[in-house]
Amino acid sequence: MTPAPASADGEPSRCLFVSDVHLDTVAGAAEAQFLSLLRTEAPQVDALYILGDLFESWVGDDTPVHRAVIDALAAVTAGGVGCFVLHGNRDFLLGSGFAERSGCHLLPDPVVTEFGGERVLLTHGDALCTDDHAYQELRTLVRGPLWQQQFLALPLATRELLANEARAGSRAHTSRTPPTIMDVNPSSVAAAFRATGVRRIIHGHTHRPAVHETQIDGEPVQRIVLGAWYEQGSCLSYEAGHYQLRALPR
Ligand code: MN
Repeated sequence: MTPAPASADGEPSRCLFVSDVHLDTVAGAAEAQFLSLLRTEAPQVDALYILGDLFESWVGDDTPVHRAVIDALAAVTAGGVGCFVLHGNRDFLLGSGFAERSGCHLLPDPVVTEFGGERVLLTHGDALCTDDHAYQELRTLVRGPLWQQQFLALPLATRELLANEARAGSRAHTSRTPPTIMDVNPSSVAAAFRATGVRRIIHGHTHRPAVHETQIDGEPVQRIVLGAWYEQGSCLSYEAGHYQLRALPR
């Protein structure tokens, strides 16, 4: 677990968190809403955290897609807002080319960062879904440097074809897997709290937006889950020690 600075010049006092925007190559309502967030709310904060799956698919930094979103992120970061991106299970190939074009900083997953003097664990969330053994096996494979090197060496058209097949396979897997299997595993969540000593975890991935208040070893802890942007937006605001999870209706 790598500690990382919350922003280049110290702790941010106002932050926005989003996850699972799942932007498709065909611009739709989610993209319009996300671009609007980048124009209106994002410039008002010190740091924007994108906790994975910003893109529905990402086959390499040489892809010509999502230019409007990358330009909008570049405008936000050029305005002095620190923008931090974690990999999701769909856009885990976001690399240094994306970071350079957008001005975003890629963070490791999981990562502990500080807000208002409190250490908080940020993660996409898929690594906590340990009941889904088939998915975890796939995750271990595709997150390996050798697999990624070989995949990225393929022609762009081949990578796009393979990514489409993988998405179809993922949809089939999701449709036949019970919902509880695809949620976080409580023991894995407890282990993450204990291993890091944090009292708050923020993640996405499960598309079950909620603020869970529980206890670990008698201590109150909180797990904030961001929602996906399929039907409406979802974001978490942080200001002066307070967190507010908001649905953003369309
Ligand atoms: Mn995900």
